[in-house]
Amino acid sequence: MEIEKPNFMTQEQAEKRYSMIKQGSINYNLHLALEKGTTFRGLVEASFETLNLTEDLFIDFRGNDLFKIVINGNEISQDKPNFAHVFDGLFIKLPLNHLKSNEKNTVTIVYQNKYADDGLGLHSFTDTDGKQYIYSQCESFWCNRIFPNFDQPNLKATMKLTAVYPNDWIMLSNQFAEQQGAFNKESFTSAGSNADILLQGMSLENKNISYFKTTQILPTYLFGFAAGPYVVIKGPNSYNNIPMNVYCRESSLPYLQKYSDFIFEITNECMRFFVEFFGYPYPFEKYDQIFCPEFNCGAMENAGLVTFNDTRFVFKEEISDTRMTVFLNVIAHELCHHWFGNLVTMKWWNDLWLNESFADFMGHFVLTKISSKIRRIADGFVLFNNRKVWGYNTDQQITTHPIAGDVPNTEVAENIFDGITYAKGASTLRQLLSLIGEQNFSSAMKRYFNKFAFKNADLNDFIENLDVEFQTLNLGFSLKEWQQEWISTAGLNECQPEFDPNNQNSHACLCIHQTCALEMHPTLRRHNMKVAFFDENCNITEQTVILKPAEKTTIEYDGSKNFKAVLLNYGDYAFIKTILDPVSLTFLQHNLHKISDVLTRTLIWKAFYDMARDGKISSEQYVDIFISCIKNEVSEEIVAPQFTYLSNIVSLFTPLKYKSILKQKLFSFCYNFLLSTSKEQKNKIITIKTALIQYADSQEQISSLVQWFKGQNKELEGFEIGNEGEWQIVCLAHQSSQYTLQEKKQIFDEQLKKDSSDTSKNMEQKCRAIVASAEERQVLWNQYINKLEFSQRILQNSMEGFVSTKDSDLIKPYNEKFFADIKVVYANQIPEYASIVYDSLQPQSDDLDWLIAQYTNVLSSVPSTQVFFTRRLKETLDLLQRKKRAFTCFYQRTQLQV
Ligand SMILES: [Zn+2]
Repeated sequence: MEIEKPNFMTQEQAEKRYSMIKQGSINYNLHLALEKGTTFRGLVEASFETLNLTEDLFIDFRGNDLFKIVINGNEISQDKPNFAHVFDGLFIKLPLNHLKSNEKNTVTIVYQNKYADDGLGLHSFTDTDGKQYIYSQCESFWCNRIFPNFDQPNLKATMKLTAVYPNDWIMLSNQFAEQQGAFNKESFTSAGSNADILLQGMSLENKNISYFKTTQILPTYLFGFAAGPYVVIKGPNSYNNIPMNVYCRESSLPYLQKYSDFIFEITNECMRFFVEFFGYPYPFEKYDQIFCPEFNCGAMENAGLVTFNDTRFVFKEEISDTRMTVFLNVIAHELCHHWFGNLVTMKWWNDLWLNESFADFMGHFVLTKISSKIRRIADGFVLFNNRKVWGYNTDQQITTHPIAGDVPNTEVAENIFDGITYAKGASTLRQLLSLIGEQNFSSAMKRYFNKFAFKNADLNDFIENLDVEFQTLNLGFSLKEWQQEWISTAGLNECQPEFDPNNQNSHACLCIHQTCALEMHPTLRRHNMKVAFFDENCNITEQTVILKPAEKTTIEYDGSKNFKAVLLNYGDYAFIKTILDPVSLTFLQHNLHKISDVLTRTLIWKAFYDMARDGKISSEQYVDIFISCIKNEVSEEIVAPQFTYLSNIVSLFTPLKYKSILKQKLFSFCYNFLLSTSKEQKNKIITIKTALIQYADSQEQISSLVQWFKGQNKELEGFEIGNEGEWQIVCLAHQSSQYTLQEKKQIFDEQLKKDSSDTSKNMEQKCRAIVASAEERQVLWNQYINKLEFSQRILQNSMEGFVSTKDSDLIKPYNEKFFADIKVVYANQIPEYASIVYDSLQPQSDDLDWLIAQYTNVLSSVPSTQVFFTRRLKETLDLLQRKKRAFTCFYQRTQLQV
């Protein structure tokens, strides 16, 4: 029987190990030998004190080759190839009889591993100019791809790094280097007798060496490394004299230089606010921000070396204030982690929310507290409402979970970086802050950071700490009760008022109904909120209420004021889905433009969106409401996200056979909207332009865009398309049968002349997949299923092209094939990659019952231990049920003829 290689660590294993290693005693003396190409070598000397040692220990390593293992001076013999007697592909066993109990132990390991091409561990990317860039991503359980270590958040450690690397590279890590220069083997003594194995196969010519200072005590997921010919933009020291630099690859420099001053200004302002609000100085030596290629998420808070997704945040064209502010929010979020997470760390991944909810909430909150001399910052709380949509949507799925729930292993941990951990958690903090007040909140944070600095804390520590302030408020319920309702219980509540505008009594009653979005999560909760009453000119009278954890809460209001509509959760302090009553819906839909407050209009827009998602109005009706209201909308903070929601409703909740008609209608609308918008409204123009390209569907529409691209569209002449839009038009042309292959190639080459960056490599594969023949598709499919030839990012682009061909006969054979092959992908690849394949290649069909049957079938054959896969399947089934409701509504009400 073949022994299956483990691919995660359990909480139980981590707790056992925690009990046998003394807190604060771990140091990794790490040597990295980084060569250009595909592999690197390392030598780690892990020293630690043990406590009450009762069994073997293990150290985590997901690498290729082990060359030497020495435990307390005893070298482990290589009985089996690659130490198979002590190494199972994830854990290296440290046998009890080699370890010393209650004293210092030293484990030395020399190893080799491949650079990653999936963004996890030590990722390598080669730019189109041939320059190779390396950077790390350790969260949540990937530091063990870089070097063997005790890879869990409560075994914090210090790290002393020494790195040898090509001398046309620079090397960055969490701390500054204390010494660096040309590498010279004779004077290289720090690796001791292992230097030869470490450097074996490495050309010693033209190498530099950096000796970094020992880091502060950190969890392993926060160690950070970057190496390559990165270029620097030097920043001014912050107000508290923290050195701040920005790094990027050479080809990104001209773009990033245009707004690097803004980055430094915002970083500095946020730092000033956090230091004061948290009552604890910035805890690390420097603050570097580095923009990395093929980065998987938005950014990562490695202590003192924050990595950013350069595809997302190196802007090659003029962008709107809202989009820029979304980026500022990410800057603030990562900086905030240097207190929440980096200074005070969760004990285990079940408290990931303590990191992410705080960073998410504070990252928005701080934007409402700072100002810029350089550029307008969009409204932080309007942006926060958009963020909350992620939380609302996740919390209505059958896969939802408590903010702090069970995380039995590291694979489950990888699965909870979701709308609950980030957006819902952040929303509950806003609710908490609105309950106890800013001053109290800040006082509690000051005590928390001073008490737990450079240590670990969990949910109980957090609640106990905050309870000091909470108890002084006498709110009629305890913080424990609040925690039970909000942090430990899953599911979303909905509320709707029962409003009668004809009731003119000065002591009129408004009954507010509370229900649960999912039957399986029946908890009703306390919600601290404001209620807005609108008169006929949309002047607002507000009232505060705490909804009881009950089906009904009644409040009294002055009906003699002749109110026309009611809006619950005015000010957006609560996390609850607010449903408009029929009277208010009609009034607000027609008077939206009279409401001066942007956040209030945002909430009403959100209510329309919910109705379409819930199948209460059809996507067609939603499009009509959208078109009638957006014309009068003056706020860019609203226009940009509403176009995103529109695209979400049209693409997900419209039957395929009607989609073209809706898209064409929206294209015509956007076209005229663009022409009628004044050129001064730059932000609005950027948004409409993006939407216009997205909705092009008919031959004629695509042709008009291609004309625009070629500079031959008279009407659109004065509007700049922008880099992203240009590439989208290139893809549209590839989808359209009106152009020959040769014409398509000409269009591609024309764009390539303007942009030969790695984007062009991605787009090349995408376009190739769009036009691929039936035979070529078989080859491509095989590449996707077996992850061949390209990096994860390039394959992802290719898959996007594969499914976006207009020729449905080419796609059809893969509809059934998908359900068989996706199991193969999840069985053979890391779940992160498998999920990309899953998301990209899912079949589309109006026969929802057929789809439901297929997915149900797959789900029944997948063991629940495959957490990524089962969660994806359940989410898809949940979405299909939602689609069924939406489609039913659509078919009943449509006026469209196909
Ligand atoms: Zn974060």
